[in-house]
Amino acid sequence: MSDEPSIFTRILHGELPGEIIAETEHVFALRDIAPKAPVHLLIIPKTPDYRDVTELAAADPALMADMIALAGRLAHEHADGEFRLVFNTGASAGQTVFHVHAHVLAGELSEKSLGG
Ligand code: AMP
Repeated sequence: MSDEPSIFTRILHGELPGEIIAETEHVFALRDIAPKAPVHLLIIPKTPDYRDVTELAAADPALMADMIALAGRLAHEHADGEFRLVFNTGASAGQTVFHVHAHVLAGELSEKSLGG
């Protein structure tokens, strides 16, 4: 695992541009730069300790619950409250940033917007 801060950590610390649309004590949300749905948000724990959802769920289920709560709140604020939650897990599944994050896809979804 790289010691370099992830792109998400650098956005959180203001070192890279990014549209942070919500923040709680432990979690923040970004608008995805390459949206695959009318609403495409990323929900990210502030800690960089977990590279994917399996590590997160095993170590800190309460933090995962915080992420899902924020996903639900933002789906109400940015769409009709209904949403798809995607955790790409591993490079062959499409994960490119190894700082765990959930994709929130909402709006009129097609089956093509399965991934993030
Ligand atoms: P994944 O491929 O599941 O690891 O998701 C990484 C996501 O981060 C992709 O959907 C990218 O479009 C998104 N992304 C990369 N750079 C940025 C950025 N600077 N601001 C917002 N989203 C980004």
